[in-house]
Amino acid sequence: MATIFSRIIAGEIPSYKVAENEQFYAFLDINPMAKGHTLVVPKQEIDYIFDLNDKLLAEMTVFSKKVAAAIEKAVPCKRIGVMVIGLEVPHAHIHLIPIQKEGDMSLTNPRLNLLGDEFAKIAEAIRDNVK
Ligand code: 5GP
Repeated sequence: MATIFSRIIAGEIPSYKVAENEQFYAFLDINPMAKGHTLVVPKQEIDYIFDLNDKLLAEMTVFSKKVAAAIEKAVPCKRIGVMVIGLEVPHAHIHLIPIQKEGDMSLTNPRLNLLGDEFAKIAEAIRDNVK
């Protein structure tokens, strides 16, 4: 069965897309740790990030760098924190999280409750800055 992220990439489940190319899809996390919290996923359905071949993993890092630069322009923050967990959804993904301080990366922090139009505005602002 397709993962929830494959279904998002296929457009079967809606998402707030921020960037896409042939190999990767980036969209806002639905339970964000901060405004602009983005997930980058490979279109190829691979569960564990370190099972990606070297080329794809390197390209995913470069794609994430581009998305992170756009988030940094769109959302006030000190920098973009990078995290990989992958215990919830079995489809490799990199979390890009705008942070002000170390504690902003804590998994025990409450997630934000954003409205649909807030997600839409953030996604649009990030998209506008993707080079
Ligand atoms: P992890 O697998 O890295 O532990 O966490 C999965 C992440 O995916 C979580 O931050 C969760 O909020 C996010 N997530 C799970 N399901 C969906 C979904 O259907 N849409 C979006 N946009 N994010 C999701």
